Amino acid sequence: MKNTKIIVKTISKSYPIYFGNKILNSVGKIVENHLPKVNKICIISDRNVPAAFQRKIKKSLKKYNLKIYRIAANEKVKNIKVAYKLIEDLLKNNFNRSDCIISLGGGVLGDLTALVSSLVKRGVKFVNIPTTLLAQVDASIGGKTAINTEQGKNLIGTFYQPEFVLIDTDFLKSLPRREMICGYGEILKHSLISDKKFFLWLNRNAKKIIDVEDKNILKKAILQSCKIKSKIVNRDEKENNLRMILNFGHTFAHGFEGAKNFSKKLNHGEAVLLGMMAACHLSYNKKLIGQKDLSLIKNHYRKFGLPMKISKFFKKKEIPKIISFMKKDKKNTNERINLILIKNIGRITDPNRFSSTDKEIKKFMMSYYD
Ligand code: NAD
Repeated sequence: MKNTKIIVKTISKSYPIYFGNKILNSVGKIVENHLPKVNKICIISDRNVPAAFQRKIKKSLKKYNLKIYRIAANEKVKNIKVAYKLIEDLLKNNFNRSDCIISLGGGVLGDLTALVSSLVKRGVKFVNIPTTLLAQVDASIGGKTAINTEQGKNLIGTFYQPEFVLIDTDFLKSLPRREMICGYGEILKHSLISDKKFFLWLNRNAKKIIDVEDKNILKKAILQSCKIKSKIVNRDEKENNLRMILNFGHTFAHGFEGAKNFSKKLNHGEAVLLGMMAACHLSYNKKLIGQKDLSLIKNHYRKFGLPMKISKFFKKKEIPKIISFMKKDKKNTNERINLILIKNIGRITDPNRFSSTDKEIKKFMMSYYD
């Protein structure tokens, strides 16, 4: 598999995403090229990333003054207390703006580490090394940083772009299948919102991606996903308009995750898959998407065993709790719930085009549940 690079070009910064298999060994050289003034490097690493990778990164960065934190990542660590503790520690160790923080983990650590990097001395260098499929195809690109609060998901955050992103498919060999499905959900999202050809290709290749059967097909899916996301982010870095289409399925998803108290009972990626299916059905009810495309999407879910029925995860009486979290979503501009809906595979409604009252959503969810 050949190494590749693409460039993300936002208004605030341009940076490369490096792709390859076993390119973690090159991280020292890449840091040297991109960040010649770095002295101290802090690695915030996920405990579930196998020790062999931790040894590799340490070896590659051995000439730097290294500090390593290992965190057991889950939605609950994306909080203000953990962020504050990290910030205090970095300040105690006198990290400067020219120094660097590396996230070595999935989307949880990426969001948390990026936020911390953006806040310490108003911004130290940040490098993202995503180790889950979801983070490689989505969370590591675009500069959104976030932590959760009791009021909901990702409600505190900044926009802060990394110096570079390094995507090594080798990480995925230790990733549980459940997490591969979560990442696949975001790949599927990218096809549904903008690329029907990609969707049809996924329809033939999803198993090889989810089961890591073919490294080249996996890399092609990751690369295409990153290209779609970076193209959108390049045009609307701060989510003033176009970037909102990336939230397809996410308003429902944030409701589902909140209602499960951000627990492992429902992962973010699973919530997104459920949310996209709910959004497809709502789009059908509103006569936006036709029966043919809806069936293609539903068959895709069934064929590859993707989570699609909310009744598998929720009791009907939990619907009001789901909706109360949907109402707190950042994308809402008034009391109404803003939604991105789908017109056909590869075409989405314009941001801010659809909003519903909580009553309307409740009626839809009640009938959709049955
Ligand atoms: P995660 O970071 O919790 O990782 C999932 C699980 O995989 C964890 O248990 C983790 O310990 C484990 N893990 C990580 N790397 C591993 C490896 N190589 N081998 C074995 N296990 C490994 O979850 P995620 O799905 O990567 O990310 C979800 C988060 O990303 C959510 O908080 C979501 O809000 C955020 N997100 C952010 C953006 C953004 O634009 N910033 C976009 C999408 C999602």
